[in-house]
Amino acid sequence: MTGRFAPSPSGELHVGNLRTALIAWLVARAGGERFVLRLDDLDVANTSEEHAAGQLRDLAAIGLDWDGDVIRQSERFDRYRFVIDSLVAADATYPCFCSRREIREAASAPHGDGPEGAYPGTCRHLTDGERRRRERDRPPAIRLRTDGKESTIVDEVAGRYVGRVDDFVLRRNDGVAAYNLAVVMDDIDQGVTHVVRGDDLLASTPRHVLLQRLFDAPEPRYMHVPLVVGPDGHRLAKRDGAATLTDLAEAGVSASRVRQALVASLELAATAPNTNEDLIEQFCAAGVGHLAGPAISLDRLARW
Ligand code: GLU
Repeated sequence: MTGRFAPSPSGELHVGNLRTALIAWLVARAGGERFVLRLDDLDVANTSEEHAAGQLRDLAAIGLDWDGDVIRQSERFDRYRFVIDSLVAADATYPCFCSRREIREAASAPHGDGPEGAYPGTCRHLTDGERRRRERDRPPAIRLRTDGKESTIVDEVAGRYVGRVDDFVLRRNDGVAAYNLAVVMDDIDQGVTHVVRGDDLLASTPRHVLLQRLFDAPEPRYMHVPLVVGPDGHRLAKRDGAATLTDLAEAGVSASRVRQALVASLELAATAPNTNEDLIEQFCAAGVGHLAGPAISLDRLARW
């Protein structure tokens, strides 16, 4: 059994990311499982070694530990290429020439009951001649042909979720694997049995479940946990300030104080000794039922 945390090293982790990481770690450790880290650095241009090192340092600073080497998506491009090429060879995909603007416009037109922003299938029925002609203008992305199948997830925190799966992108038109394909392959290859992550990814999960079924892979247990949001109710951003360990250290708040606040936000006792063993024991007794709920504001977290 294996749990994981998979941050994108495109910036510093904020307290919302750290809270999700703490929960993922607690779930794994409470079950006596392995806990692995993976850097979601598909977007090589937007990620950096400096952020990667800083994220590992911050996770350790709030007391988390992990097993084995840290896996990086940027080292797995050949694996993704092989899998996507196999799906192309099996005729499970089609090339898509739509620009972002075209997708936005097409997705906002009424077209049945797909999820918001879902791809309406514009390029699904292009003829070979049309494909050859459009290939001259731009390289295509590769989409999975899903026929609008529905997947149901029984999330251990967010509950039952049903989603219709659109023909989502497997390979972007710059040749890089898309997140939805990479995350599924990574979880399969790392033997991940528990996926704990922010509930902003719940709506993408039916896509992941569909791919797992396609690959005959076992479905992991899912726990999508509420995000920490800024004063405007949106997910934390730089403008919200005081949200990373660096910001907080500058304001005189130590990493161990942040850990205490995060622990208290999980309704666990944050009092001494507050050791990992003590936390794991409390978490075993409390279960995950109480993790469900609305987003948590940064203000509220600061009061804990
Ligand atoms: N890298 C993603 C993020 O930072 C999380 C991916 C996942 O947990 O599946 O939001």
